[in-house]
Amino acid sequence: MRGRPRASLARGGDGVLARLPATGKLSNVSSVRRRLLVRGTVQGVGFRPFVYRLATALGLAGSVRNTPEGVVVEVEGEAKQVAEFQQRLSVEGPPLARIAEVKAQELAPTGESGFHIIHSAAGERPTALIPPDVALCDDCAREIGERQDRRFGYPFTNCTNCGPRFTIVLGIPYDRPQTTMSAFEMCLRCRAEYTNPDDRRFHAEPVACPECGPTLFLDGQRGPDGIARVARLLGEGKIVAIKGLGGYHLACDARDSSAVERLRTRKGRGQKPFAIMVRDLKEAQRVAEVSGRAAAMLTSAESPVVIMPARPDGGLAPGIAPRQVTVGVMLPYTPLHRLLMSQSPAALVMTSGNLAEEPIEHRDDEARRKLGPLSDHILSHNREIAVPCDDSVVRVEGDLVIPVRRARGYVPRSVALDIAGPPLAGQAVLAVGGHHKNTFCLLREGEAILSQHIGDLDTEEVLEYFGRAIQHFERLFEVKPEVVAHDLHPGYLSTQYAQALEGVRLVPVQHHHAHVVSVMAEVGLPGPVIGVSYDGTGYGADGTAWGGEILIADRREFTRAMHLLPVPIPGGEGAIRRPARMALSHLIAAFGEKGLEKARRLIPHLSETEARVVARQIKRGINCPLTSSMGRFFDAVAALLGASEEATYEGQPAMELEAMCGGGGAGGKLLPYEFGPYPYEPGDGIIDPRPTVRAIVGELERGAPVAEMAARFHETVAAFTIEACNRLHAEGAPADVVLCGGVMQNARLLGRLVEGLMEAGLRPHLHQEVPPNDGGLSLGQAVVGAMRSKG
Ligand SMILES: [Zn+2]
Ligand SMILES: [Zn+2]
Repeated sequence: MRGRPRASLARGGDGVLARLPATGKLSNVSSVRRRLLVRGTVQGVGFRPFVYRLATALGLAGSVRNTPEGVVVEVEGEAKQVAEFQQRLSVEGPPLARIAEVKAQELAPTGESGFHIIHSAAGERPTALIPPDVALCDDCAREIGERQDRRFGYPFTNCTNCGPRFTIVLGIPYDRPQTTMSAFEMCLRCRAEYTNPDDRRFHAEPVACPECGPTLFLDGQRGPDGIARVARLLGEGKIVAIKGLGGYHLACDARDSSAVERLRTRKGRGQKPFAIMVRDLKEAQRVAEVSGRAAAMLTSAESPVVIMPARPDGGLAPGIAPRQVTVGVMLPYTPLHRLLMSQSPAALVMTSGNLAEEPIEHRDDEARRKLGPLSDHILSHNREIAVPCDDSVVRVEGDLVIPVRRARGYVPRSVALDIAGPPLAGQAVLAVGGHHKNTFCLLREGEAILSQHIGDLDTEEVLEYFGRAIQHFERLFEVKPEVVAHDLHPGYLSTQYAQALEGVRLVPVQHHHAHVVSVMAEVGLPGPVIGVSYDGTGYGADGTAWGGEILIADRREFTRAMHLLPVPIPGGEGAIRRPARMALSHLIAAFGEKGLEKARRLIPHLSETEARVVARQIKRGINCPLTSSMGRFFDAVAALLGASEEATYEGQPAMELEAMCGGGGAGGKLLPYEFGPYPYEPGDGIIDPRPTVRAIVGELERGAPVAEMAARFHETVAAFTIEACNRLHAEGAPADVVLCGGVMQNARLLGRLVEGLMEAGLRPHLHQEVPPNDGGLSLGQAVVGAMRSKG
C-alpha cells in the first residue's frame, strides 16, 4: 500500500462496510463536526464511495449512510477542510448523482477517528439498493476501444457508473451472490478493483473482464470473433437474434428493405413501427430531426428509444414505420451493442425478440426454440437475465416529452410521492394495472414502485410473466400488500387475478380516475383537479365503455363532469380492428338514416355488404355497446380521411391521422394551426361531436386537402376540451388541469392543449416519466387504493 494506510474491507456484523483510519491530524483547537443531509438521486449511484474518497482525501473523520430521507454524512476535522468538503460534495459527485438539496447542521466534535461507510440494512429503502440498469459510461466505452486496455473489445465491461443492475438481481441485498453474476468468480485483478475504494469499480457488483466474466456464443459456438461475424451477417441482409440486457432483440439492417420486410412477416408484426439502433448521435441526426431535448434523452443513463420526426432523406427502409412521419431511435447502451454498431451497418432494426403478443424472450433455451425460426442466427451470452425488461420509449416533439413505455433504465427506481404525507404512509398496496400495456405498482412508505412494461394480458404466457413479476417485486422490496387495487372491468385478467388473492382488502378503481390520479401522484398534486382523460375504452362507473372523460377528481373520488356523446361500437371491441365501422357509427349518429348512404360514398375501406350489415346491427342495437371513447372518435375520423383498412396495433388509426397533418410523407413539416376548429356543440355535461362530423363530411365532399382536414380535426378536439375546462373552472373547478390517457400520446393534440390551457389562465399538468397510456394506470390505482383503504 502506497501513501496512506488502508484498512481491510469487511462486511462485518457491525454493519460497517469500509473503515479507514483518518490520515489528517485532528487539531482540537479548530476541529468542527458537521452533519449534512443530501437529498436527490444519491442512493444506488456510487455516492457513498465518492463521499468516502473525498472525506479521506481531505483527512476528515466521520461516516456516511443511506437513510429514508437521503444520504447523511457526518464529517469532523479542521474547519477549512470541512468547508472544502461541503463545497466539493455538491460539484464533484458521481455521474449518476443529482443533488437536489444539502442541509447542514453543526454538531459538537466527538474526537472520532476514521471515516466509515455504514451499511445499514434497516432504514434503507430497498429501491435505493436495487438501481435500474445504466447505459454504458464514457470511461468504459473508452476502455473497450483501447487496444492496450485489458477490457479491449470486451462486451460485458461495466463499472459503478454503468452496467446491468435490475435485470441481474435475483434477491436482496443487492450484492454479487444475489445476482446472476454469482456464476462467475472474479479474477484477482477484478477483485482488486472491486475492493479498492479509489477504483471506479469499487463495489460494482457485475464487475467482469475477459478473464473471468461472461462470454459470447454465436449459434451455440463460443468464439472471440462473434461480434465481427454478426456485423458481417447483418451487412449481408441476415436477421440475427441478439441477447442484450433485458432480453433478446431481433436485428437487421434498417436500410435493407427486403430484410425489414422479411422480419416483419416472420414476426407477424402487422404495421407497428420498428425501433432502430444507430451507431452514434451523428447517425441519429441523419435519420431524424434531433432536438436538443431529444439528444439529451438519447445520451442519458436511461438511454430509451426516442421517437422523433423522421428525416425523409434518412435512407431507412419504408417498412420501418409505415404511414408514420416519426421514427424511434436509440443509441447503443451496452458494450456489446457499442462494439457491434462500430462494425455493422450504421442503423439496425432492434425490435423486442418475441412473437407478436408474447413477452420479450430472455431465457436461452426458449429463445432458441422460439426465435430460431424468426432469425437466421442467434448471438447469445452466458450471463443470465433474472428479470426480462423491454426498452423504454419516449416521444419528443419540440419541448414536449411524452413517456410511452417505462421499462429498462427507469425500473425499479421509485416514483416519490411528494404528496404522500401521513395519509399514505404505512400503506402496503399492490395495484394490478389494466389490460393493455400492463404494469403493476407497489406502494410502500410513501413511495411507489412501478413494474416494467409487462404487455397485454391476453395470453397465458403474459399472465404467467405478470404473476412471477409481482412475486419477484414483493420479495425484492419486502412488501406484503394488505390492499389490492384493480380496475372496475370484471373481464380484465388483472381484475380476476386481484379477486383471487386471499386475505387482502380489494379496492376497485375506475379506469379514467386512475389515469388522472397517476399524473397527480407523479407531479405532486393533492387535488382536486380537472382531469381530462382521453383513451380507447375503460369500464365506466355506470357499466358502459367510457373514454372521452373530463372528471373533477381528487385522490379518493371523482365526478364525471363532461364526456363525449356516446355512440354505438358495432361489434364491440371487434370494431377496434376495423376503424371503418366506427366511422359508419359516427356518420349514422350525425346524419341518421342518410348516414349509410354517406358512408357508402365516403369511407374508403367499407364494402357494400359490411356497410349494410353494420348499419342494421346499429339500428337494432345488436352487440352495439355505447361508448364515449375519444380514441374511437379519432379512429372514425381517421377512417374517413383514408387511414389503413385494418388497425394492426393499438392506436394505429389515430397515429396515422396525426401523421396526415404532416402531409403524409416522412419528415413533412406539421401544418401550422392556421385552420380554425370545426363546429361542435358543448352541451350540458356532454360534448356533441356531430356538428364536427357533418363539417368533415362537407369538406370531403368538396375535396378539401387531407392534411388540412386532419389538422382542423386536432384543432377541434383541442378547442372543445379547452372550452369545457374553461367552463368548469368558471363554475368553481380548480385551475389545475391534468391531461392523461393514451390519446395524449398525440403530440399535436397535447401541444395544442398545453398552449391553449395556459393562454386561458389554467395550469396544465402532464406525466414526466410515467406513460399517459394504460402503462401508467397502476400508479393511480395504487394511490386511490391507499387513500380509500384509510376509510
Ligand atoms: Zn462504466
Ligand atoms: Zn476479471
